Amino acid sequence: MMIVMKLDATDEQIQHVVDRLAAVGAQGHVSRGEFVTIIGAIGDRDQISGLNFDAMAGVDKVMPILKPYKLASRETHPEDTVVRVGECGLGGSLFALIAGPCSVESEDQYLRAARQAKAAGASMLRGGAFKPRTSPYSFQGLGEDGLKIMAAAREETGLPIVTELMDPRDVETVLKYADVIQIGTRNMQNFQLLSEVGKVERPVLLKRGMSATIEELLMAAEYILKEGNADVILCERGIRTFEPSTRFTLDLAAIPVIKKQSHLPVVVDPSHATGKRDLVLPLSLASVAVGADGLIVETHPDPESALCDGSQSLPVDEFMAYATEVRRYVEMAGKHIS
Ligand code: PEP
Ligand code: MN
Repeated sequence: MMIVMKLDATDEQIQHVVDRLAAVGAQGHVSRGEFVTIIGAIGDRDQISGLNFDAMAGVDKVMPILKPYKLASRETHPEDTVVRVGECGLGGSLFALIAGPCSVESEDQYLRAARQAKAAGASMLRGGAFKPRTSPYSFQGLGEDGLKIMAAAREETGLPIVTELMDPRDVETVLKYADVIQIGTRNMQNFQLLSEVGKVERPVLLKRGMSATIEELLMAAEYILKEGNADVILCERGIRTFEPSTRFTLDLAAIPVIKKQSHLPVVVDPSHATGKRDLVLPLSLASVAVGADGLIVETHPDPESALCDGSQSLPVDEFMAYATEVRRYVEMAGKHIS
């Protein structure tokens, strides 16, 4: 914390602040500028925050310098976190390519997508069984039957599965099947849901709210970490801006910004960010270039007949070429698809 003294603060008033810090075992580093004196408080934050600096004579303002999120911050955890899911990893030099349909529609649809993902060297399978749809009249997902189909695909391919949880009442059901629990953009600030997934031993892929700041995303991660679950993967999936050419605007700068501020791995979802299949490859490559630890992309055996998000889904027979190009960039970035 920084204590900024008033322009006319006296030496006694400055010394008083330093003495009060010393009394709680902290240090006050005094820097005297031409006009203003600033005291940097260093020591145990709980002890320091118990001091009422605002009430001390000569103090102008008090500014926190530590981030409001603690567990998600690099200040408290300088090393990259590597989240492991079976044989895959995200973080450090490990990159994950996650692919599959937006929603599980049928066994045939899902298994075809899963086999292609496996053949192309994907790390994990994605798929929604509980779908957050804007319209209550749209396909809402197959529920537990969809999760069973995903489990069958895992059985056949050996690839872990990533699937969305929307409601704390479904935690037990989703935990029976999911290797990674996804929290969608619309639930990024569903604090009860975040606390619930914080209590389970399963990695969580937390998508950025479509109108959330980076700090709000990191505060949402903090809710999960605070409950004891350290395996949080952040996901940039596009934000709302005034630009209508793409479904959302992919905030590419968010990746290096987050990685500077946090030790948690970051994946990018170029499918939802753009809503357009021809933009998925270029933005995937750009994401790798700016430091992403993974990609989550939508594929479908027949995008034209998809019940959800067909226009942004890569046809499964194009996924091999996509994965080959992504792998080239991942290797150039000094990482490998695990
Ligand atoms: C999804 O990944 O299926 C999804 C609905 O994404 P988002 O929450 O980012 O819209
Ligand atoms: Mn989708």
